[in-house]
Parts: sequence; C-alpha cells; structure tokens
Amino acid sequence: MTHYQTFQHQHFHQGDYIFREGDVGNFAYIIEQGTVEIVTLFEHQKTVLNTLQEGNIFGELALIDGRPRSASAIAATDVVLCVIRQDQLEERIQSADPILQMLLLMITRYFRTETQHFRPGQTTNINLKPITMAEDRLQEAINIIRLESDLQNALNEQQFRVVFQPIVSLSTQELMGFEALLRWNSPKHGLVSPLVFIPIIESTSLIIPLGEWVIKESITALAVLQREINRELFMSINITSRQTQDPNLLTFLMDCLSREGLKNHQVKLEIIERCLFDDQLVGNWVQQCHHLGFTLSLDDFGTGYSSLSYIHQYRPKTLKIDKSLIDNIAFMRDSYQICRAIIEMSQALEMTTVAEGIEYQEQADLLQSMGCTFGQGYFFAHPLLLEEALNYCTRQNQRR
Ligand code: C2E
Ligand code: CA
Ligand code: CA
Repeated sequence: MTHYQTFQHQHFHQGDYIFREGDVGNFAYIIEQGTVEIVTLFEHQKTVLNTLQEGNIFGELALIDGRPRSASAIAATDVVLCVIRQDQLEERIQSADPILQMLLLMITRYFRTETQHFRPGQTTNINLKPITMAEDRLQEAINIIRLESDLQNALNEQQFRVVFQPIVSLSTQELMGFEALLRWNSPKHGLVSPLVFIPIIESTSLIIPLGEWVIKESITALAVLQREINRELFMSINITSRQTQDPNLLTFLMDCLSREGLKNHQVKLEIIERCLFDDQLVGNWVQQCHHLGFTLSLDDFGTGYSSLSYIHQYRPKTLKIDKSLIDNIAFMRDSYQICRAIIEMSQALEMTTVAEGIEYQEQADLLQSMGCTFGQGYFFAHPLLLEEALNYCTRQNQRR
C-alpha cells in the first residue's frame, strides 16, 4: 500500500484500501479531500454500500464497539483523511452517561447486522449514517474533533503562548500582579480563542500537561517581572475542574516556585464557581490550597449561581467580579447596586475584590469609590507578551 503519514493526516492513492473487512479498527476518519467507497466482498463480488465525500466520517463503528471492521474502505480517488484515534473517543465514551453508552452500542450493533445481512442482489440502499443528528450539530462535532487533533500537536510544536494581563490597585493605580492567559496560534486555524479550545482540552487528559506548562511559564515570568520591578507581585493562574483532581498539580506548582525562590502566597488560583459543585473532591482540594497558603480566587463572580454558601464553605480570598456586571456599571442601576453589594460583602468578610474587563475611566472611578480592591482591563493594559510586560514594569518604576 502506498500511503504515507503526517501527524494526524493520512494520504491514500486511488484504489488503495484504507482498511479491510475483518481488520482490527483503531482509527476512524474524517474525509478532508477526495471520495471513499465503503464496500463488502461476498464470493468475490464487490458491492458498494456507500460513497462518502469531503466532511463525512467513516470507520467509527469499530472505535465504539471494538470489533473488527464489517466492511472495507477504498479510496475512490486520491484522498486525504483526518485520523481520529481510539483514545480520543474512548475517554469521551467512558465518561459519557451510561445510558448513552448503551444506546451507542445498540445502534452500532444494529448497523453491524444490517451490513452482515446484506448480500448482492438486494437493494444497495443502505444508509450507513450512524446516528441522525442535525447537520449543524454534526458539523460542530466534526470541527471539535478536527481542532482536538490539531491541539494534540500544538504543545509539542510550541504553538501556545502565555500572555500576562496587569492587575492594578484601584486606589493607587500601582501594579500588583498579573493574570496568566493562554493563547493558541494555530498555523491552520489562526488565533483561536481560549473560550473555544480550553473546553475541548478540558475534555481530554491534555489539560494536565498543558496546565503544567502554563504554570511553569507563569512562575518563570513572575520571577523575571518581579526582578524588574524590584518588589513582590502576584500571579493569577486559571485552573479547570479537571486540574483540581490532579494529585500532582500543587506539588508541581510548589517545585516551580521554590526553584525561583518565590512564595506560595504569590500565586492566586482562579477557579470558576461551577467547579465547586462537586463538593467532596473539590472541598479536599480547597482545604489543601488553604493549608499550603495558595490564594483562591472565585472567577466570573456575578454570573451563574453566585451562591453565598460556596463563599461560606470555601472561603476564597478574592472574588473576581465578572465583566458583564462591570460593562453596565455606569448606566444600569442594577449592575451598579449588585457590584456595590458584592464589594461590601467582601469587605465584611475580609476578602479582596478584582473588577475585570474595565475599559473606561468612569468604570475605574466608580469601582474605586465603592472600595473595590483591584482592577483589570483594557483601560489599564491588554494581556501582554513577556517582553511587553517587562516594559510595563519598567514604566511603572519610572512613575514612582
Ligand atoms: P477569564 O479568566 O475571565 O479571563 C478574562 C478574559 O477577559 C480574558 O480573555 C481577557 O483577555 C479578557 N479581558 C480582560 N480585560 C478585558 C477588557 O477590558 N475588555 C474585554 N473585552 N476583555 C477583556 P481571554 O484571554 O480570551 O480568556 C478567556 C477565558 O479563557 C478566560 O476567562 C479563562 O476562563 C480561559 N483561559 C484563558 N487562559 C487560560 C488558562 O491558562 N487556563 C484555563 N484553565 N483557562 C484559561
Ligand atoms: Ca480568570
Ligand atoms: Ca473572569
């Protein structure tokens, strides 16, 4: 067979077998270019069950039920395929609702028997499309799998960057610390928002090495920035729910800190409230963070449930007031009053507040008058590459 392989893509020439009936199936495929025929052979007679084009998926049955291929796939033209590995699906299937798992298996079994019972001479009108899904949902799922394939390589190929957004004291305008924010510059998709790729990564185990990489980059940067400004700064790092279940995360973080001679209290771990739902497990993690002296920051506060019981139970040191509230603070009475109430409550409980997404002077002034501790937003600075953040520190020094 004359096929060659790049990282996540395979190329086949016209007439090549992509897989044969009876093969063990470790991969499914998305057709990027060309046409593929799904065929069965019965007494040397070839019958085409389906002709698939660009954007179609095939070979997925074997990935779901782990049984040998029940039909062969042949390249009808030269084709380029995006490869979906077994482990990419397996993690999701394993973590899916058991009833969904059962349905998936029932459906695959059904299609298996359909292809087995097929014999030449019968009508060839078998629809192999596995599950009826609305076309846009199907496209969305295909896009996610494509992004995920590319994300698997992105860490090794150094396509990620961490940028640092200054967080300032609202009363003195002085720089107090930074928030580390991840960027993915994909050669294929361009700059992809973390709002798109973090949820994909979070659904795979890739979040663990990537999260560690962010921690390493951020702590190294903190040391460099602090040396420049010549006083203590903090670094806020976003942590997803899956990372809180990683027993090595905090040890890794402490190793990075001690290597740079930095203290645990200089790191703020930002988690969103949704992350706290799973009380027992996260509860232990939060206890451990308190015990080790890491500061916990409740992110996106004011959206979702903003449950007071979580504040009581977990005692975060900082609340980050969500941008959606800050956006309207100057012209919506409700937003103004909610911000004020959050800030007053925080003061009474000896917590600090960070207002995020400040874009105008007026917002900064209002928040300062309410007693909000810190501000973050384009009004002060955009997220900066390390060199730019260093320049920002230099300018802060000159101001003093
Ligand atoms: P977030 O934690 O709420 O981060 C704040 C977001 O607001 C950032 O978006 C930041 O660039 C943006 N922002 C800051 N100031 C302004 C402003 O004045 N105006 C506007 N319009 N936006 C502002 P970004 O960097 O796109 O990140 C989006 C989200 O992705 C983050 O929301 C966070 O939840 C997640 N994220 C980013 N980096 C990481 C990471 O390293 N790990 C994890 N787990 N999540 C991350
Ligand atoms: Ca955050
Ligand atoms: Ca936030």
